[in-house]
Amino acid sequence: MRVIPYARQSISTADIEAVTKVLCSDYLTQGPVIPEFEKAVAAMCDVKYAVAVNSATSALHIACIALGLRSGDWLWTTPNTYVASANSAIYCGAQVDFVDIDPETYNLCPHKLEQKLRSAEQDGLLPKVVMPVHFSGQPCDMERISSLSQRYNFKIIEDASHALGARYKNETTGHCGYSDVTVFSFHPVKMITTGEGGMALTNDKCLAERMSRLRSHGVTRNEEHMAQTNGGPWYYEQIDLGFNYRMSDLSGALGQAQLARLDQFIVRRRQIVATYNRELANLPVMLPVQREYAESSWHLYVLRVDEAVSRISRNVLFMRLRDQGIGVNVHYLPVHTQPYYRQKGFRDGYCPNAERYSAQTITLPLFFDLTDEDQAKVIKALRFAICDR
Ligand SMILES: *Cc1c(COP(=O)(O)O)cnc(C)c1O
Repeated sequence: MRVIPYARQSISTADIEAVTKVLCSDYLTQGPVIPEFEKAVAAMCDVKYAVAVNSATSALHIACIALGLRSGDWLWTTPNTYVASANSAIYCGAQVDFVDIDPETYNLCPHKLEQKLRSAEQDGLLPKVVMPVHFSGQPCDMERISSLSQRYNFKIIEDASHALGARYKNETTGHCGYSDVTVFSFHPVKMITTGEGGMALTNDKCLAERMSRLRSHGVTRNEEHMAQTNGGPWYYEQIDLGFNYRMSDLSGALGQAQLARLDQFIVRRRQIVATYNRELANLPVMLPVQREYAESSWHLYVLRVDEAVSRISRNVLFMRLRDQGIGVNVHYLPVHTQPYYRQKGFRDGYCPNAERYSAQTITLPLFFDLTDEDQAKVIKALRFAICDR
């Protein structure tokens, strides 16, 4: 049986030609394409610096290090995210805590954040970094989070893995007006793809330099940063413990070609969302809620199925749709309930909104190449599962 996936890359002949061109060039690893791709993303986002790396996970990791996150520090994030957001802090030896979500947007709740900051201040346990995640492509309320960062003196990393092309208060996500660093993912299910890949954006020159060193072993050829400057043109220095997190020119070329298609991608995603919103409006399920300040990039379309209202459980609905070749998914299992985080002492009930949401949510297929016929099939299967029993 053919399965309609929940997400999928779209590769055009122009994308293929861009990659093929690199294959015939001098550079397969990081070469001249990477700064071009970085400039294109930075220009689109209206931000000064961009550092391309081999995944968003790597970008989150080097952003945490560059902001000085280390043992003894706390990073707070949302439980409604992929595990990578929280793990980036653990890599640095820091501790992670979770702020519960807003039950309508499923994003980190600024009100809950404020309450938690107030009590953390009394206990002397304020976070060094807060990492909001723009879930499904809808930006968090960054103005509120940013004003809290000034009062409580923490840094902000936006995990915008879902949100390339999203807008908040008429500005493109990534401009870092409300954060220190913004991170995008170019995994194939996300807004554009480089195969594997990610990027860290910032307006801070020091952070940008630190992150680009960390992406390549902590090695510099910039004399301003060296202990000795009397070396010749062969001379370089390792001044940090970095990694090999570089993005290859093959990936960068695919990214450049994909970026040129982003507007088209978003237009089509909006069409698909409008059709879901219209066709599912009469079903006893909760459709995605958008805030007036947000223009989502629509990475995900998630429904909420409350058994008391829908008269079908999420799990039964999920299995019925899967049985009919609809590749539904769940975004996300709350990170604090993962066995690794339970080991650190987190328990059920710690973030009740995220836990309730997670038990009721189902992600429908949404991607650029989804045909009208396939979407109609999804809608029909959903109607049948919920209404005709
Ligand atoms: C996909 C994703 C990541 C990880 O991205 P990679 O590029 O696969 O490392 C991190 N955070 C969120 C919210 C994501 O959706």
